[in-house]
Parts: sequence; structure tokens; C-alpha cells
Amino acid sequence: MNYRQFYRQFFHPHIGLYLLGVLLLIAVDVLQLWVPRLIGIAIDDLIAGKKHLTLYIGYILGLGIAILFCKYGYRYFLLGEMRKAEYSLRKALVTRAIHLPLYFYEKNGPGKIMALLINDVTSIRVAMGLGMMLLIDAVFLNVVALLMMTEQISFRMSLWILLPMPVILCVAIGLGRILRVRFRYAQELFSTMTEFTQELFMGLRVIKGLSEEENTARQFAQINRINREGNLRLARAQAFYLPLTRTLSMICFALSIYLCGQMVYQQQITIGDFVAINGYIGILIGATMGIGGMIGLMNRALGSYDRIRAFFDEPLEEISVSSEPCRQGKDISVRIQNLTFSYPQTNVPALQDVSMHIPAGKHIGIAGPPGAGKSTLVKLLLRLYPISRNMIYINETDICDWDIPTLRTISAYVPQEPVLFSRTVAENIAFPATEGTYSAAQVEAVSVAADISLSLQQRLQGHAGKLKEAGTDLSGGQRQRIGIARALYRDAPLVLMDDVFSALDYQTAASIERHFTETLQDKTVVLISQRMAALRKADYIYVLLDGQIAEEGTHDELWQKKGVYFELYHKQEERSE
Ligand code: ADP
Repeated sequence: MNYRQFYRQFFHPHIGLYLLGVLLLIAVDVLQLWVPRLIGIAIDDLIAGKKHLTLYIGYILGLGIAILFCKYGYRYFLLGEMRKAEYSLRKALVTRAIHLPLYFYEKNGPGKIMALLINDVTSIRVAMGLGMMLLIDAVFLNVVALLMMTEQISFRMSLWILLPMPVILCVAIGLGRILRVRFRYAQELFSTMTEFTQELFMGLRVIKGLSEEENTARQFAQINRINREGNLRLARAQAFYLPLTRTLSMICFALSIYLCGQMVYQQQITIGDFVAINGYIGILIGATMGIGGMIGLMNRALGSYDRIRAFFDEPLEEISVSSEPCRQGKDISVRIQNLTFSYPQTNVPALQDVSMHIPAGKHIGIAGPPGAGKSTLVKLLLRLYPISRNMIYINETDICDWDIPTLRTISAYVPQEPVLFSRTVAENIAFPATEGTYSAAQVEAVSVAADISLSLQQRLQGHAGKLKEAGTDLSGGQRQRIGIARALYRDAPLVLMDDVFSALDYQTAASIERHFTETLQDKTVVLISQRMAALRKADYIYVLLDGQIAEEGTHDELWQKKGVYFELYHKQEERSE
């Protein structure tokens, strides 16, 4: 996304009212510059003995009221419109984040997205609102105040008085660069801290289980200390700026008193002019000091823009659409042909030369020790990772020609650790349907098949309210049962189950197996299981070892063979005895 596209998408819709805000801001500046002038004229009239004081009070109050309305107007339009732009930018970022492939999050933790959504979006909004306000003030006030001053004293004299201004400007620009580097570093630290904190709370159970609280707190303290140092370095650079510019501005006043004071003695200007000139200098200094803040804000925003642009340029999931419509239908068959796959940024293949045939309506078991590549295979059937052509065919159409939403609609995937949401059990089963939009009878039926109606009956009916976040108030077995029920509820023709019985006791698993074999009778099922007994009823079994097929056949054939399958089975039986 280039500057132009970025502008068109997020700022162009607000540009009309934004410019109205800019006009009102300029109006405030003009009105503001009249104040020292009026005070100067009032002082001169006072000295001359003219009694127009009430008139000047009226003028000043009038100016005050006009400034009030214009100021309200520009803040409302200029800052308000940028709030709207911020809203649409954040919305677009979240939409993009949802559509990025899973592997993006393997190399970028959630901390990065949080920093992007919170800090970067805010810094762009602040730069375009407050930053722009400071810029306009600085340019406009400097030019007009200088012109007004030259009306009363010579241009040369004005330049003398304003001599320290370029120094203030140089300091502002130099410090702006330093601020940008330090801000970027502080931003990275924030992202690391967010990631650590997120992981900490997600893994709190494990930390407590291992009694690692003290260690974890120490690790956090270390990250927090680094974060503090980074932010202090940023604050030091910021703190240096203000006193320095204040001192330089005092030099301007000193020069003005010296030079203009002499002109008053020589009666070249009146005392009123003298007061007015010092009033302009005050306004000018304020505006010039704002330039430093503005440069800091703009620098931050540029860094944020770079990060946001890079995020928008991240490739989305490739949703290719076949020229021919995919043969969806009720029956799904899968053919895998010499599939070799390595995870992005790894060079060891997780699967190597794997070929399988999964006919429509058959139940296929996949066995193998941990790390054999079983889950990878299922993830590839959902195209959670990019995959080359000519390796997987679904209904004899290359998986790369299936558009991803359709592919995922025909599949019901049950991961080993199902993700639960803070909703009722029934809503979790019928996800994403919510109360009132799902079929209660269907939920009830699938929950019987997944053996959850007894243990979670109350919750199923929503009496006990929502689950805690991520279903932490349920046991591992209960969570797995909800995952199985969710897949059954989807009623998809292809069911992919990834070791869904691992947290269940033998009897529950056997009972669910019986039920779901009946429920899934006509479906194509890929069942991964570390529990070998769960695969016995499968129509055909593949045994994976180090990413390759070591054996294949029916249970009886593999049993007779007394090879890897037999050994895995045997070892498990020995362990359970
Ligand atoms: P299984 O399901 O049989 O236990 P997996 O399919 O999860 O095995 O893993 C197969 C291999 O791929 C393992 O060596 C594992 O370390 C590796 N692997 C799994 N997920 C990733 C990933 N996201 N990035 C890199 N390597 C991975």
C-alpha cells in the first residue's frame, strides 16, 4: 500500500470537514494575533489620555468569544475527523489480521498486532490531528507575526530579535531524529512485553503446576526493567527539549527589550508598539516550540506508517478460485500424491513423499508416534499452509484450485485442543451461531454422540451461564468432547479429527467412538489417534514415521504383519496394563 492508496482509503473520506477545521484554525491564529495589537493601541491611548478603555475591553472580549467558537470548531472538525479515520484504519487492520495466514502468527506474536493497533494507529491519528495543528500554527503564525512586527519596526530589526528562532528549529529537528529512534526502540520493547505477558497468562496453569511463579516474575521484572530503561531514554530526550527552547526564547525577549527599548527612548516606536511586539514574540515562540513537538509526532507517525504499510503488504491467504466449479456434493474423496512439505522457514520436511487414497465415505485412520507428521497432513488438507500443485486432490480437483472458504466449509476439523469461547456450551457446539439461531434439537443430538449431555447437561442448556475464557473451567476431556460435538454439528462431508481422544478415559473414548461411527457413517473421515485402539474400526490405516508412510493396510493386515503398527499397539497395551 503506497501513500496514495493509504490516503485515499483512510483520509480522503474525511478531507472536506478536515479542511474546514484547518480554516477555523487559521481564523483562530488571525484573531489571536490581534490581541497584542489591541493591547498596544489601548496602552498608547491610555498614555495619550484618551478614555476608550471600555471600547477596548469590548473588543478583547469579542475576540475572546470569536476565538472560543473557532477553537471549538477546529478541534471538533480537525481532531474529530481524525478520530473517524483512526476508527476505519483500526477496523481495516483487524480485518486484515483475521485474513492473514496462520503461519504469519508463527513468526509474529500477538504483541506485534497489539502494538500496531494501539500505538501505531494512535500515533498516526495524533500526527494528523495535533501534529497538523502545530504545523499550521508554526508556519502561519511565524509568517504573519513577522509581517505585523515589520509594520512597527524594520524587517532587519525583527530578524535580529528573532535570531534565536533558527537555533530552536535546529534543536527541534535534531532532537526529532533522536526521538524517532528511541521511540521505535520503546515500541519494540512494548511489543516484547505484551507477548511475554500474554504467554504468561495463557500458560499460568503450567507455571503454577511447575511452581515457577517466582522465576516467571523475575523474567517479567527483567523485561519490564529493559522496557523502563528504553522509555526513560525516550523521556530524557523529550525532557531536554523543553528547557532548552525555553532558555532560547528568553534570549529573544532580552534582545527585544534591548533593541525595542532603545527605539522607545529614541521615540521611534511608542510604548504600545513595544508591548505589542513582545506579545507577538510570545506567540511566535509558542508556535516555534510547537515545531519540535510536531516533528517528534511526525517522525513517530512515519515509523508507524512504515509498520502499518508493511502489515498491509503482508500476503493474504491465497484464495484461488478454480476456473471449473469444484465438485462439492455430499461425498468427498481425497487423493494425496507424493506429498512433500516443509514448514515455512524450515528446511527439514515434515512430510516426505506421502501418497494416500481416501475414498468418499470411508473412515481412514492415521497412526504414528509424536512428530511423525500426522497433524501436518490434516492442516494441509485445510490449506492452512501454502502448498504446491499436483500433490493433493479433493474430488479429483487440485486443492490449489479450491477456493479456501469452500474448502473449509466442506470440512469439519477437530484439533487436539479445541478452542472454546466464553459462551454457553451449546453456543460453543453450534459456533458461530448464537442463542436462538441454532437448532437446539441438533445440539442435543450431537452432544449425545459426543457423550457430553450427562456431564455438562446444565451448561448445555445455558443454565450455568457462559464458560470462562477459553473454557478454563472445564476439564481437558470435556473440552475435547465439545470439540467433537462441534464437528458433528457442522454436518460437513469431510471430517478431520486430530487426536481427539487423548484426554478421554478409555470407556468414554470407546463410547464416543461407537456413537460417532454411526453418526459419521456416510462421511469421509480422517481420524488421527495416538490411542491405537481407536483406529481398529477404520476402513484403512496409514502409519506415519518421520514424515513418511511406514506401513498401510487394514487393522487385521497390519496386525498380521507384526511391524511398526503392531509394535506401537503392543507398547500401548503394555503401558495401559
Ligand atoms: P504429529 O501430529 O505427528 O505429532 P506434527 O505434524 O505436528 O506431528 O509435526 C511434524 C513435524 O513438523 C515435527 O517435526 C514438528 O516439529 C514440525 N512442525 C510442526 N508444526 C510446525 C510449525 N508450525 N513450524 C515448524 N515446524 C513444525
